[in-house]
Amino acid sequence: MTLRGRLTAAFLAVVLGPVLLGAVFVGTTLAAVDRSRSTERLGLAASAVRTSVDALCQQLRAAADAVALRTDAAARAAAAGQVVSRGLAAAVLVTDVTGVTTYATPGAPPTPWQDCSAGRSADGPVRALSARVDLRDPAGAALGTVVAAQVVDPAFVARLAAATGVAVTLLDAGPAPGRVTHTTESRQVREAVLAAAGTADGGRVTETPDGRYVRRLDPTSGQPLPLVLSVPGERPPGLPAVLLGAVLLAAVLAVLAAWRLARVTTRPLVELAAAVDRVARGDLTARVPVRSRDEIGRLAGAFNRMTRETASYVTALTSSRDQLRGHLAVLGDTLASTHDLQRILRVILHSAIAATGARAGAVLLLDPTGMLVGQCAEGLDGRWPAGWAPDALRVPVGAGVVGAVAATGEPRRGRVDPGAPSDGEPTAPPDGEPPCESYIAVPFTAPGGAAGGDPAGRDPAGRDPAVGVLALYDRLGADEFDDDDLVTLRTFAGHAAVAVENVRVHEEAQRLSLTDPLTGLWNYRYLRESLRREVERANRFGRMLSILALDLDRFKNVNDTYGHTAGDAVLAEFARRVRGEIREVDLAFRQGGEEFVVLLPETDARGAAIVAERLGAAVRDTPITVDGHAEGLVAVPVTVSIGIAVYPDHASSGQEVLDAADEALYAAKAAGRDGYRVTGERTAPVVEEIAVPAGVAGPDDGLPRGGPAAERSSGGHAAGVTQPGGASSGPHPPRQSRGR
Ligand code: GH3
Ligand code: MG
Ligand code: MG
Repeated sequence: MTLRGRLTAAFLAVVLGPVLLGAVFVGTTLAAVDRSRSTERLGLAASAVRTSVDALCQQLRAAADAVALRTDAAARAAAAGQVVSRGLAAAVLVTDVTGVTTYATPGAPPTPWQDCSAGRSADGPVRALSARVDLRDPAGAALGTVVAAQVVDPAFVARLAAATGVAVTLLDAGPAPGRVTHTTESRQVREAVLAAAGTADGGRVTETPDGRYVRRLDPTSGQPLPLVLSVPGERPPGLPAVLLGAVLLAAVLAVLAAWRLARVTTRPLVELAAAVDRVARGDLTARVPVRSRDEIGRLAGAFNRMTRETASYVTALTSSRDQLRGHLAVLGDTLASTHDLQRILRVILHSAIAATGARAGAVLLLDPTGMLVGQCAEGLDGRWPAGWAPDALRVPVGAGVVGAVAATGEPRRGRVDPGAPSDGEPTAPPDGEPPCESYIAVPFTAPGGAAGGDPAGRDPAGRDPAVGVLALYDRLGADEFDDDDLVTLRTFAGHAAVAVENVRVHEEAQRLSLTDPLTGLWNYRYLRESLRREVERANRFGRMLSILALDLDRFKNVNDTYGHTAGDAVLAEFARRVRGEIREVDLAFRQGGEEFVVLLPETDARGAAIVAERLGAAVRDTPITVDGHAEGLVAVPVTVSIGIAVYPDHASSGQEVLDAADEALYAAKAAGRDGYRVTGERTAPVVEEIAVPAGVAGPDDGLPRGGPAAERSSGGHAAGVTQPGGASSGPHPPRQSRGR
């Protein structure tokens, strides 16, 4: 059953029940009142009838007495005539003792007459009512009777009816109510009255179908007439019909009202259900009309509000999803450039600005000199001279806002000179930071502690030193950055820290993959790359590039004499000395074993020879102290032979120039070691001879060693060698195996 049906049924039950009850109550009450009043009227009428008939009987008796008092017949006739003429009786009848009528007034009604004292009489219509008095002589002997009678005719009945105020019906005498003799009732109701009289006991009131009340008045000694008294009911004639009509009308009205009410009540609910259905299908534009301010109206209003808010949430979610997609794309991009720190920092800064609604921002990293240097910036273009780069943002640690943040490790947020009039010209903060009205800055530290995880790098408060600061400026739509922004920014700063650390770790790994662990010099792999790069650069700028190939002399002896560990220590110290002798732009490599290469960009053969000489001296002049096991600390004299080649003078490619340097090295070895030789040079060395230090182990390879004199005399050699102690003539030493 629908809600509308239930509401209609409930309304009908509520309305029709009382209407029906009321109708029944009114009907029964009116009927009861009517019956009671009619019964009362009939009771009074019965008394009145008895009294009237009794009085008539008294009168007739008195009249008969008056006739009977006369002693002779004539006088009696005269008296009878007087009685009749005076209206005391309608007729007087005198009989003798045998019952024979001796005198009768003329016009006497036909017999039989109903005697007043007789309870019953013969069957048939009653013609007259009579009173009988005995006629006696003065001695008291019975002479007959005198009977005075009054006619019982329709007029008599009508008088009775008039005297009692009710309808009076006179029945034929007899044991059972028979036919109507006279009646004041109308012909139509006569039968009904007769039927009701037949069913009623004497004295009981019954009701005819047409609403009349009937009471039978049986003959008694004082009232010998069989009468029926009847009154019409006082109820309005069509009361049941009226009541029924009223009930029906009420029912119809109730149905209409219930239908209307149910419709009015359920229609918004139906609309609401339809709208909810639409929402369930995903249509958030569904709205319901608000027609009233009642509960349903409020429900409709709340529904509309709910769908509106939900729609806006969905819109926000959709745009946030789209943003997320965008961010994912950026993230993907960023992941693809894991070690492009600048790019990652730019993405982090951009995301932080978008998330907090800032107008501008910058990421600064701490450089080794204790200066915070801008790495990337956004939204600052209008505040700085055109063409500025982010690294123009330089703030010493401890100075200004970002400097203080880096120094204390505590984030800061606030306004710049909040008391200043906001005339659109933001007050410039100190120390060259970007001009702004409000700012927020958070530090970030390397995850897992200071770079390298050294706890000693922590400040006195136990904090890791900041490696950078993420700063945002001028929050859009709000006075200042709030705590939520701080939380957000900490998250982004954490990402920045991870990015910096990742790049640092990556760079470290890369460095390790390109360096030799024993000496710390670049390895052969990096040599090839550097050689290619430096050759290209030299080529592009039309500069020279010198290559030194170095090989320790008789190094096998060092190993054999002092052990391999001591040999390693010699190699490490040699590398350290090489590093100390070359410029920052020069590159030193361990090519393998005890062979090294040094690249000297923008250096010609002459410059290279000077470096070679310096290197040889640096090694030769100070023997290297190592742990010689059994001997304890021993000073190991070491010398190095060096071959020099110059690009593009001696070769046209990196590999060729390296090979040329090797050739020169062999020449230097062949020339007696502890010297250098420039490839292709047959002229005298460009530097003075270098004295061979005493104690240098003699060659054990059996090759000839040329002294300075020998060197000077050996003009036919492929390369000029500073060879203080060895001969430069003779066959070349066997080519060394290269750890390539
Ligand atoms: P020269 O070059 O003067 O002709 O003599 P050499 O003894 O240096 O010649 P050679 O190339 O035959 O010997 C190289 C030696 O260097 C062999 C090896 O014992 C030693 N050596 C190579 N690599 C290492 C190293 O990593 N550690 C140590 N301790 N010794 C090494
Ligand atoms: Mg060697
Ligand atoms: Mg060697």
